[in-house]
Amino acid sequence: EQAEIGLIGLGVMGSNLALNIAEKGNRIAVFNRTPARTKEFVAEAGDLAGNIIGCETIEEFVAAIRPPRPIIIMIKAGDAVDQQMELLKPHLSANDIMIDAGNANFHDTIRRFDNLKDSGLTFIGMGVSGGEEGARHGPSIMVGGTEDSWKRVEKVLTSISAKFNDDPCVAWLGTDGAGHFVKTIHNGIEYADMQMIAEIYGILRDGLGMSAAEIGDVFGQWNKGRLNSYLIEISEKVLKATDPITGQPMVDVIVDAAGQKGTGKWSVIEAQNLGIAATGIEAAVAGRVLSSQKKEREAAEKIFGLPKPAEKPHDGMAFLADLESALLAAKIAAYAQGFAVMAAASKEFGWSLPMPTIAKIWREGCIIRSQFLDEITSAFTKEPDVANLIVTPAFSQMVKDTDAALRRVVSYAALSGLPVPALASALSYFDSYRRGRGTANLIQAQRDFFGAHGFERVDGKEYHHGPWGSGASIY
Ligand code: NDP
Repeated sequence: EQAEIGLIGLGVMGSNLALNIAEKGNRIAVFNRTPARTKEFVAEAGDLAGNIIGCETIEEFVAAIRPPRPIIIMIKAGDAVDQQMELLKPHLSANDIMIDAGNANFHDTIRRFDNLKDSGLTFIGMGVSGGEEGARHGPSIMVGGTEDSWKRVEKVLTSISAKFNDDPCVAWLGTDGAGHFVKTIHNGIEYADMQMIAEIYGILRDGLGMSAAEIGDVFGQWNKGRLNSYLIEISEKVLKATDPITGQPMVDVIVDAAGQKGTGKWSVIEAQNLGIAATGIEAAVAGRVLSSQKKEREAAEKIFGLPKPAEKPHDGMAFLADLESALLAAKIAAYAQGFAVMAAASKEFGWSLPMPTIAKIWREGCIIRSQFLDEITSAFTKEPDVANLIVTPAFSQMVKDTDAALRRVVSYAALSGLPVPALASALSYFDSYRRGRGTANLIQAQRDFFGAHGFERVDGKEYHHGPWGSGASIY
């Protein structure tokens, strides 16, 4: 019996996704560039092997799938995907669908989609979040392509996706690069979320002098409240783990240099291109960059030393409550920014991205899954076209309840010399966003002075250049 779907790439993500697909009763054909891996995969599939057809050649693989064929490509992002598509293409027939499920740059997805437009074949760019566990037991899936191609894969993708209550965490978000774009911004928000948690950890460790396990307890408490989320949950687990080699807390023996594969950087680049301030994600990417310059930081510490932490807050419990509220406030800023980037991209690329649906499919399966996303879902369901999440009734109330705590925490960190770039960026973002009259009047005057750029007047009168006199440049 032929398979209803095919999958290429039996790495970490591909093999787990294939097992998930097989487990949900779908018959699947699999192929991997290195055939030994295919054999190994089928041998390890146990009870699920009955639903899996392992193929060693592309010809065999294509023949094993019932046309029109949906084929998931889950391999290393970048050139490898183009190479794999070229190898596959001559074997396909009309209406077959190639589905790139890796972390593609959405510009590549748009190009691949356009290149296949007149070939009779179809292309779907699909963002998959949730890591290995998600792929195996239910990821969050963000689909971009034609609506018609989505309808053909909807059933199988729904069967393998995560569920929030009974709602499947998969949706068609728009044409060509929409799915990969939304996955990119998901990852950008994930960077910001992780950075902000790490900054709070830094205050607890270096400001309050708490041990890893004690900090784990704090996160464990928070996970029962407003910050309930996967990232807080795993932070508790990580902080309580012990290194089997030295017996020390695991986190204490891990080098403080964070890696990155590109999606955070792409989020920032796209935000900049679209003219949206995504300061939380920017701070998080810059934070990882600085973290990786460990030798330079160590050398600088020798020159400057470290500032003495500010006096410990008198009321420790109240300060812990402040830290919890500060993290929530900063998180609101980062998510609001991420959604603002998506709203701008939706217009720019003609996608009609459905904001409530995006929040919905992030409630389970993905790395940023949380209680909080259910609240975002409600806010966007009531006001899908709101300019900024912060001004919705529910979130503006949350900001009013938490911004003073964020201010106290950022002040304490600044006085203690503890770096909190993402938390501080969130505070400045609020302070800029909610101030009707800012300071850019001076910037406009400077621009007019040296470049005769002109300015608008607050009274709307006609005079559009300043009386700068001699010394001011005309152009
Ligand atoms: P792995 O490194 O585990 O696997 C890579 C796979 O790509 C292998 O099957 C490998 O085949 C194949 N491959 C590499 N180069 C080529 C090529 N030129 N032609 C054909 N096949 C090739 O990667 P992951 O499973 O972790 O990641 C796969 C994709 O999923 C990436 O785009 C990644 O960014 C994305 N992703 C990963 C997540 C994660 O948590 N790991 C989460 C979400 C998305 P071979 O065995 O022959 O080397």
